[in-house]
Amino acid sequence: AKQDGRGVFRFFEPALDAAARKRRMLELDLREAIQGGQFRLNFQPIFDLKRDRIGGFEALLRWEHPTRGNVPPIEFISVAEETGLIIAIGDWVMQEACRQATAWPDHVRIAVNVSPLQFRNSGFPNVIFQALSHSGLAPNRLEIEITESVFLDGETTVVTLLHKLRAMGIRIALDDFGTGYSSLSYLRSFPFDKIKIDKSFVNAVAEDKSAAAIVRAIVDLATALHMETTAEGVEDRDQLSELRGQGCSSIQGYLFSRPIEGELVEAMIGSAMSA
Ligand code: C2E
Ligand code: CA
Ligand code: CA
Ligand code: CA
Repeated sequence: AKQDGRGVFRFFEPALDAAARKRRMLELDLREAIQGGQFRLNFQPIFDLKRDRIGGFEALLRWEHPTRGNVPPIEFISVAEETGLIIAIGDWVMQEACRQATAWPDHVRIAVNVSPLQFRNSGFPNVIFQALSHSGLAPNRLEIEITESVFLDGETTVVTLLHKLRAMGIRIALDDFGTGYSSLSYLRSFPFDKIKIDKSFVNAVAEDKSAAAIVRAIVDLATALHMETTAEGVEDRDQLSELRGQGCSSIQGYLFSRPIEGELVEAMIGSAMSA
C-alpha cells in the first residue's frame, strides 16, 4: 500500500486500477461499436388492454460485439453516459427506431428511451426533428420515455422542452415510475401522456398486498390526471388479471412477448394475439 499526502494508506488502488482499465476498454469498444454497426434494436410489444391489441413497441438497444458477444444494456449504458457516448448512441437509436416504425400500421407507436444526458443536450430537439423528417413518421406515433432523473438539476428548462416536444405532437412517458425519490412532484410539473409502472411493483402485484395497493394508487392517480399507464415486466397471468382489474391501460412483459427482432414486428402485429 502507498501512503498519500494526508497519511492515509490506499490499499484499494490496484483493484481500482483494474476496474478503471476494464471501463476504459469498454469505452474504446463502445466507440468502435457505433462506427462498426454493432448496434441494433429489438422491439417489445406494449399490449393495449382497452383496445385489445398491440398499441406500440418499445425500442431496446442491443450490442453484439465481435468477441464480447451480446453485451446487455445494463453493462454499457452507464459507461456510455459517463463518457458522453450516449449522445451519439441515442441519436442512432432515435433515427433507427423512427425509420423502422414507418413500416408498421398507423395505430402502432414506437417508444424510445432517452437518457437524461441526451435529453439535456442542446442538439436533442434537432435530433428528433431530423429523425421524424427523414423517416416521415407522424410525430404522434413517437413516444419518448424519460425517467425522473432528467429533472435532477433544474426543472424549468426540462419542462419547457417537454412542452415544445408535446407541441410537435410527440408523446411523453415517465419511465420506471415509483423507483425515484419524489415522483409525485414531477406529476405536477408536466402532464405526461403515460406513466410506466416499474416492474419491481408489478412483479409482486399478485402476491403482495402492499405492492397491489401501490399499483392501485398509481393507476388511480394516473387516471385522475388523464394519463395512461403501462405495467412493465408482466410475467404471469395472475399479474395480468390483477392489473386488468385495477384499470391499467396496457401491459408489457415476457407474458405477452420478449423483445423481438425488427423483422418479426409486422408478423406479430398481424397475428393479433389477445392477452
Ligand atoms: P427499461 O427502459 O425499463 O426497459 C425495460 C427492460 O425490462 C428491458 O431490459 C426489457 O427487456 C426488460 N423486460 C421486459 N419485460 C420483462 C419481463 O417480463 N421481465 C423482466 N425481468 N424483464 C423484462 P433491457 O432491454 O435489458 O434494457 C435495460 C435498460 O437499459 C432499459 O430499462 C433502459 O433503461 C436501458 N436501455 C435500453 N435501450 C436503451 C436505449 O436505446 N437508450 C437508453 N438511453 N437506454 C436504453
Ligand atoms: Ca423504458
Ligand atoms: Ca422501465
Ligand atoms: Ca429500468
